[in-house]
Amino acid sequence: MKIHEYQGKEILRKFGVSTPRGIPCFSVDEAVKAAEKLGGKIWVVKAQIHAGGRGKGGGVKLAKSLDEVRAHASAILGMQLKTHQTGPAGQKVRRLLIEDGAAIEKEYYVAALTDRATQQVAMMASSEGGMDIEEVAHKTPEKIIKVFVDPLVGLTDAQALALAKGIGVPEASIPQAVDTLKKLYTCYMETDASLAEINPLILEAGVDGKPGNIKALDAKFNFDANALYRQPEIVAYRDLDEEDADEIEASKFDLAYISLDGNIGCLVNGAGLAMATMDTIKLFGAEPANFLDVGGGATTEKVTEAFKIMLKNPKVKGILVNIFGGIMKCDTIAAGIIAAARETHLSVPLVVRMKGTNEDLGKQILAASGLPIIAADTMADAATKIVAAVK
Ligand code: GDP
Ligand code: MN
Repeated sequence: MKIHEYQGKEILRKFGVSTPRGIPCFSVDEAVKAAEKLGGKIWVVKAQIHAGGRGKGGGVKLAKSLDEVRAHASAILGMQLKTHQTGPAGQKVRRLLIEDGAAIEKEYYVAALTDRATQQVAMMASSEGGMDIEEVAHKTPEKIIKVFVDPLVGLTDAQALALAKGIGVPEASIPQAVDTLKKLYTCYMETDASLAEINPLILEAGVDGKPGNIKALDAKFNFDANALYRQPEIVAYRDLDEEDADEIEASKFDLAYISLDGNIGCLVNGAGLAMATMDTIKLFGAEPANFLDVGGGATTEKVTEAFKIMLKNPKVKGILVNIFGGIMKCDTIAAGIIAAARETHLSVPLVVRMKGTNEDLGKQILAASGLPIIAADTMADAATKIVAAVK
């Protein structure tokens, strides 16, 4: 699950990480009032969407007067903001964050994330803050440093120090950088995050010879969906406007659904079989329109909902059902498919492959239904038939 930058900063502040002062807004008038309330001479108007790269896309602007705050807020609010993370359609901006403008001496990158290879939490840092970190990783990988954290010990002082020194934080600011890194790690662990990224973490310009503060100028979080049951405060941050409507609908029925770009809808029981089914469709020259795992205990109602969600996608030109009957019986699924096909007035080709418990009974039920269902035996047979049917 993702959240907005202003929400991420609320969390960071709770854990003691320093950030600029800011106020989230939903209208241009609110934005101007927020700037007045913050006071000062310079503000940042920031689009709030669940994607990064907003600066380059025109979603982050400095304002030097209240008139400029109004102008930038009018331009950004409601815009279709396109960044490398939104996809070509972009994302509509419905919320803004108005912040105190910061005087930046230096931008760094810091993040805590789950490293699958080592099965540990990695703390990553780079001197190249403010940039797209994927690009840094690609072009100058030596400028990214990582430490792996022992969960029983936590991020040690020595590790945090190695990171802070490694990215060139000036001597006078090292203690604050070390403190910030340790707080970021604690925040990541306690919120069940899978990513907590600050890009840029800045060193503010110093005043009267004193070093400036280390501050989080941006905040990006992903949270482990499987841990949300014990994170009600995180769940409260959910913004459904930023999520795929079909995926929200699917989650209501406990269906694991992800929309994709192809034209063959697939309905499968089990995530592994669903992945294998998508691979097979690709192998036979077509593209899946979705990932859909109906789970182990699919009822007729669930299968019907799954069909409805798949068919909402206008790109779907055919459906492949691939079921392994283990605990789930093939005759139950067959009854579900027939009910779903009738209720949705199915008009695209449907290939069904089922194997396992009560397979013969399931096939008989499908054949007797009078519906134009194409039966398939093997995965290859099923993929060949559906690919031919949509061509
Ligand atoms: P992103 O593009 O979505 O990652 O959005 P960021 O919050 O990281 O903002 C993009 C860039 O805008 C930052 O890397 C900074 O260079 C700049 N920026 C953001 N806030 C301020 C600010 O308060 N003062 C100044 N001078 N620049 C800022
Ligand atoms: Mn950023």
